[in-house]
Amino acid sequence: MLKVYLDGEYVDADKAAISVYDHAVLYGDGVFEGIRAYDGILFRLEEHIKRLYDNANAIKLDIPLSMGEMSNIVVETVRVNQLRDAYIRLVVTRGKGDLGLDPRKCLKPTVFCIADKITLYPPEMYETGMKVIISSIRRNRGDSIDPQIKSLNYLNNILAKIEANNLGYPEAIFLNQEGYVVECTGDNIFIVKDGILITPPVEAGALVGITRKTAIEIAEEKGIKVQERLFTPYNLYTADECFLTGTAAEAIPVVEVDGRLIGDGKPGPVTKLILSGFKDVIKVKGTRVYE
Ligand code: PMP
Repeated sequence: MLKVYLDGEYVDADKAAISVYDHAVLYGDGVFEGIRAYDGILFRLEEHIKRLYDNANAIKLDIPLSMGEMSNIVVETVRVNQLRDAYIRLVVTRGKGDLGLDPRKCLKPTVFCIADKITLYPPEMYETGMKVIISSIRRNRGDSIDPQIKSLNYLNNILAKIEANNLGYPEAIFLNQEGYVVECTGDNIFIVKDGILITPPVEAGALVGITRKTAIEIAEEKGIKVQERLFTPYNLYTADECFLTGTAAEAIPVVEVDGRLIGDGKPGPVTKLILSGFKDVIKVKGTRVYE
């Protein structure tokens, strides 16, 4: 039985429960991180913790733990479960309040951490590439809930995922309100055109993805020119290559969008270079769980 960290204790996963009065349950009020461990090494743990605290600050949620204490919780949760490869979900909610939405009624944030496994897509999809759609649902505007905040309010993403499910596709791409491509329901997006790697600026409506940053670094190390700039569905349909990045999805090629083949319909050379670079960095850059 997996042990889950919940407010200072490690409890059996099937006993780990939070209050129905927790504002995460009532209102999706809180922040979270998805983190991976590869062979006993937590990939870019400090960056995930920093993003969690930045996002908590953005929604004015004061976490009653230091960043170091939070990092230790993640390390310990992986350790008590004796996992080497894991997907970790770290969540901080506004806490238990009353039925009104006033966050001042929530006296103490709830903190929990789950270390488990996740498989989003079949392994062959990483070789052959995935077919995706552009969602009819637009990414919510940054001046309502900024997509840079990894909050527990994921309904915008879930609605786009439902649309993809209904049409038989594994993932959907979001456009922002102006019609520019921004990201996917749970991943950032990259295209390649004439040898240049292009990804939308996060300010346009995307999460500041840690895998996105890793992909940019790998590209720069390999001498590939990278541009963070806006592009349209037309630019996507006519791109030479496309791939998605995310902690859970890792890096995965896209070979078809809305029935249009991307390039020749096979993962391209730049995509392959980034994917193989990603496999190299995940086992070295990180925090060791075990001595
Ligand atoms: N965009 C969204 C909406 C996401 O949920 C995620 C996954 N956290 C990402 C992008 C990718 O971010 P990261 O590489 O930090 O996991």
